[in-house]
Amino acid sequence: MNEFELIDRYFRRAPRNADVRVGIGDDGAVIAPTPGMEYVLTVDMLVEGRHFTAGCDARALGHKTLAVNLSDLAAMGALPRFVLLAGALPAPDTQWLASFMQGFDALANEYDVELIGGDTTRGPRTLCVTAIGELPAGSALTRGGANPGDDIYVSGWLGDAALALAASTGRTKLDGARLAALEKRLNEPQPRVALGVALRGVASAALDVSDGLTGDLGHILEASRVGASVYLGAIPCADELRIKLRGVERELALELLLAGGDDYELCFTASPAMRERIAGIGGALGLPLTPIGSITVDSTLVITTEDGTPLAALPPAFDHFH
Ligand code: ADP
Ligand code: MG
Repeated sequence: MNEFELIDRYFRRAPRNADVRVGIGDDGAVIAPTPGMEYVLTVDMLVEGRHFTAGCDARALGHKTLAVNLSDLAAMGALPRFVLLAGALPAPDTQWLASFMQGFDALANEYDVELIGGDTTRGPRTLCVTAIGELPAGSALTRGGANPGDDIYVSGWLGDAALALAASTGRTKLDGARLAALEKRLNEPQPRVALGVALRGVASAALDVSDGLTGDLGHILEASRVGASVYLGAIPCADELRIKLRGVERELALELLLAGGDDYELCFTASPAMRERIAGIGGALGLPLTPIGSITVDSTLVITTEDGTPLAALPPAFDHFH
């Protein structure tokens, strides 16, 4: 199968939304902007051997390739609208592509996101998505708006994905059924799109936790020129991780919870005046939004342990070039 047959079979589709004036098939896509709205653009790349293993489930990878981008849009408070998909593939493996696009399209359909272009080339397996989201002008959630006294929240649970990875690589043990559930969190993260949209006008700062809480919260602190005080015992996590935190595996559990990465939950700050609204949003979405601490004036991140003493050293966040 040649390049154009591949594109025709797996990627080409008729434009679905009226504002897509030109979709797949020309040199570029044309979108008509919605008056009063702004676009949020983001790109994320997944490389074999770095972000996923050779031979991993192609359908789950299709889901995750899109999910990590939708997660970035969610963190900005944007509603995902359009995506472009660039792929390098070692061979025109039609079965692999069909599965990959099944996972990709299922998630795209769930959020009514339209594929409007891309690029297809031979090379070491690499998938790169450019995602475009929309929001009312001026309403983007950024990392720079946190104020001293704001509450700090995280959605869902942290450390699930890292715990699954640690168990599947033999660094720790997990019950079989739980490993399967947590592996789903690692391989098929659910972008918190509805939450991001609901947080417009509510959160003072936000980001998605992809490299671990300490590093990512650190980005909010740096951009907002503030500090934070976080309670370790308040950080929502799986029971298994909570138990490991109290035992001989404490160091590992701390690393997984605070620096494990691949969580794709949102971490956000908000004025205490927003507490009731945030509880309402969590209730409406059926998603726990847990306060874990507050923003401080000084520029340090202090994590207070169960006995009231600060954690001496924070586990370092993931860094590709470290
Ligand atoms: P060009 O050579 O002008 O860059 P291509 O031949 O690479 O165009 O692609 C033809 C059309 O197919 C373009 O509209 C492009 O956006 C689309 N396309 C190519 N690869 C993909 C892909 N992986 N996903 C979605 N659209 C794609
Ligand atoms: Mg091209």
